[in-house]
Amino acid sequence: MNTQSYNATRLADGLANSDLKKIGDFSWHFLEGQSEPDGMRILLPADDESGEPIWAPVMKEPKPFQLRYEWDGNLDQPTLKEPVQLPGWHGRLISGRLESDQPVEEAARDLKICRPIEPLPGETGQDYMIFCPACQCGHRFPTGEGPGPRWKFNGNLESPTFEPSLRIQSVKPECHSQVTDGRIHFYPDSGHALAGQTVPLEAF
Ligand SMILES: [Zn+2]
Repeated sequence: MNTQSYNATRLADGLANSDLKKIGDFSWHFLEGQSEPDGMRILLPADDESGEPIWAPVMKEPKPFQLRYEWDGNLDQPTLKEPVQLPGWHGRLISGRLESDQPVEEAARDLKICRPIEPLPGETGQDYMIFCPACQCGHRFPTGEGPGPRWKFNGNLESPTFEPSLRIQSVKPECHSQVTDGRIHFYPDSGHALAGQTVPLEAF
C-alpha cells in the first residue's frame, strides 16, 4: 500500500493557522505560565495537496474524556498516540513525521459520518467518534459498559444519535453539543462560532 510521508517542522511557538505554509509545519501553543503546551497547530495534507491546519489539543497523559491527543513530550519531533485527521486525510504524527494511514484516494472513499474506534487504553466498551465542525476535531463517545460517562447510541453509523449531550470543557472554547439523527446541535453556552446552530455532521 502506498502511504505518504511528510517531515513535520517545528516553527515558532504561538503562531496562527495562516502562518503555517508547508505541509507538516507546526506551532506549539502555551497557556500563560505553563511549561508544557496545551496544543499544537499543524498543517495536514489535504486531498487536494493544498493542506489545511488543525488545532490538536495535547496532553502527556490525558484522562478519559479530556479528549486530547496523548503526546510523548517531545517538542521538536513529537509523537501523537492517536491518528490525526481531517476530512480526506488520516494519518499519524510519529517522531516528527506525518505518515498517512492509507492513500488519500482510499481515505476519501472510506469517509464515514460516525466511526467505531478503540476505547482508550485500560477502558472497555465501544467508542465512537464524530468530526465536530466547530472544534475541527474528533469527539469521542464511549458506549457500553465501562468506567466514566457513557452514552446511548442508536447504532446507526450514517445517522447517529448519542444521548445525553456532550460537554467538552477541556478545550477552549468550550463545546456543548447534542448529536441527533446525523445532525449536531450546539447549545448556546458553547464558546465557538456555531453556538446555537444545528448543522449536518460531515463524513471524515
Ligand atoms: Zn466540538
